[in-house]
Amino acid sequence: MEKIRGWVYRVRDMGKVKFVLIRLFPENRVEQVVVKAGNVEDEVLEAVEGFYPETLIEVEGEWKATDKVKTGREFVARKIRVVSPSKPTPIDLTGKTPTDYSKRIRYRWLDVRRPEVSAVLRLKGVVLRAVRDYLRSQGFVETTLPIIISAAAEGGAELFPIVYFDREAFLAQSGQLYKQALVPSLGRVFTIGPSFRAEKSRTRKHLTEFWEIDAEAAFVTKEDLMDIEFGIYRSAADALNDYPELFERFGGTPPEVPKKYEVIDYDEALEILKGDGIEIPWGEDFGAPEERQLCSHFEVPFFIARFPRQQTAFYYKVDRDDPRYAHKMDFLAPGQRGMELSSGGIREEDPEMLRKRIIEFGLKPESFDWYLEMFEYGFPPHGGFGLGIERLTAVLLGLEKIMDATAFPRTPDILYP
Ligand code: ATP
Ligand code: MG
Repeated sequence: MEKIRGWVYRVRDMGKVKFVLIRLFPENRVEQVVVKAGNVEDEVLEAVEGFYPETLIEVEGEWKATDKVKTGREFVARKIRVVSPSKPTPIDLTGKTPTDYSKRIRYRWLDVRRPEVSAVLRLKGVVLRAVRDYLRSQGFVETTLPIIISAAAEGGAELFPIVYFDREAFLAQSGQLYKQALVPSLGRVFTIGPSFRAEKSRTRKHLTEFWEIDAEAAFVTKEDLMDIEFGIYRSAADALNDYPELFERFGGTPPEVPKKYEVIDYDEALEILKGDGIEIPWGEDFGAPEERQLCSHFEVPFFIARFPRQQTAFYYKVDRDDPRYAHKMDFLAPGQRGMELSSGGIREEDPEMLRKRIIEFGLKPESFDWYLEMFEYGFPPHGGFGLGIERLTAVLLGLEKIMDATAFPRTPDILYP
């Protein structure tokens, strides 16, 4: 006899035979348990009728092949034990009675048990593993960076202030300054950690807390960085293709594994938009509709390499041949659900230029003393990028919004549970 465990998903009562669909532990795949008079004691047969969905049971019996069930097998029960009972659930996990989004979020701790949500979270795990494996294969050392910081890397408006004893402190917007500081120590470094943005953006691609792959490396060119970022995308897409069954659970399809990427620059992006009747003054940022429009022109992931200097953060290197530009590039996913996946580029390592740039962006050089000092001690040329995990997951899984790529989303409206 074998022993299995699972959560009651639905009970179909056919009198002397009862079919109990369970979500099997630990895969969370829906499987059928057959409870038949004669196979089990009469009390068990009766008890089964009273099982609410989410009752956690342990069943002894054996697997039997059958073509009547989609999984090709069913479990014939001989003994059933309730491990943990359940009350009637406030939302229907089978989805037969649809639940609206805000109620699903209110009961997210139940919602995450749904086979669809569980499949998405498992696939996110596959993405995280693939990213780590790939970056390690490229000689990157994984580390951790501080989340509590004293100064903003990108300006103050998007920072969440926190109470830090009797001082002012913030939650990090990114690991930018600290990952740079580790380059002379680790050569090639990355972290996967949380970033916080106090933006009241209510869009499909903004969270107030998201997780970011923050990578930085010495002696890299823009081309090296593009290859590495594309390598991340490709290896994650490739790894996901090993799990078609998980995609099936939420009605998705494994992503295409692109063979190449394309590169344009900011001015070319303006031209493409102009061709579509959208005029943007030189130097201005693309809004969400423009970004979507641009993405629809591409069938493979692409980079916008080189931006007007006023559009980049102070730590991007100004192009010495044409100082109107800085060496920043964005990586974007193609198509209808395309969006920015990362920003990165080559960093400024001349402390005087950095001081100027900090002032240019309306920030105080005094807040960056330690950062400016470090470039006076044998600092190598270097570059890197920050790539959002929820965005990468949403794009590769074909999810509509990035809130679905995280178990407990944080947005201006969602803070509970
Ligand atoms: P966008 O212009 O799309 O709002 P951004 O340029 O402000 O993004 P960056 O500061 O470049 O974002 O951050 C690096 C990466 O981190 C982004 O490319 C994206 O993948 C991710 N990211 C940034 N902000 C968010 C957010 N609010 N929610 C989820 N991911 C984000
Ligand atoms: Mg960006």
